[in-house]
Amino acid sequence: MANLTLRDARKTYGVLEVIKGIDLDVEDREFVVFVGPSGCGKSTLLRMIAGLEKINSGDLVIDGTRSNDIDPSQRGLAMVFQSYALYPHMTVAENMGFALRIAGIPLAERDQKVKDAAQILELSHLLDRRPKDLSGGQRQRVAIGRAIVRNPKIFLFDEPLSNLDAALRVNMRLELMRLHERLAATMIYVTHDQIEAMTMADKIVVLNSGRIEQVGSPLELYNRPANIFVAGFIGSPK
Ligand code: ADP
Ligand code: MG
Repeated sequence: MANLTLRDARKTYGVLEVIKGIDLDVEDREFVVFVGPSGCGKSTLLRMIAGLEKINSGDLVIDGTRSNDIDPSQRGLAMVFQSYALYPHMTVAENMGFALRIAGIPLAERDQKVKDAAQILELSHLLDRRPKDLSGGQRQRVAIGRAIVRNPKIFLFDEPLSNLDAALRVNMRLELMRLHERLAATMIYVTHDQIEAMTMADKIVVLNSGRIEQVGSPLELYNRPANIFVAGFIGSPK
């Protein structure tokens, strides 16, 4: 089980309110995409869920537990960043196993988890390399592998493909969708790319200036956009 609820969640930087009362339900195993223009609050909202930003008011509930004040490492989540954030001095295997080492998981168990994830991501032949000797797509896979080994209930992705070229991005989209099927995990995926949202999502959350404009399936948003903003952003007639 991995469901998540936000109720009237707000975030303020100084006097600037950037997340202005978000209500959202994410179901178990759903692939939910947050989409919206640059600066609308996508990353902030994801970081609030991850526990990297404090929620100023409102509730975050994960699997029935109010989680506003639960330590990020205890939330059962794993986040994949746009920048990959790999350790340059570590091999692929060491990068993937690092969080497990910190968590005190024994070496043999760690190695097995890293091997399993590497196989899923077709990284098995690269485990001894360092990040500088990998392509962009391979680095992104390592970043995803680092999340997989932790066996999270919920994966959080913040524009994970935006540093890749167009062709690779299309491939990685398909890979992530296959991964979602295979792991049967809940995934929340942030992008500013409407096509990515429309092709990948079970449920799209359209954000604008810290508020939700509409939540729905790609088809619902396309056929019945709630307003001009959604119609314009999704590219459908209204
Ligand atoms: P997105 O990911 O959709 O591009 P962000 O969540 O990064 O948007 O940012 C939302 C808004 O919050 C922006 O106006 C941004 O300038 C502001 N913001 C983000 N982080 C901070 C911060 N640490 N301090 C002040 N303002 C911030
Ligand atoms: Mg962002």
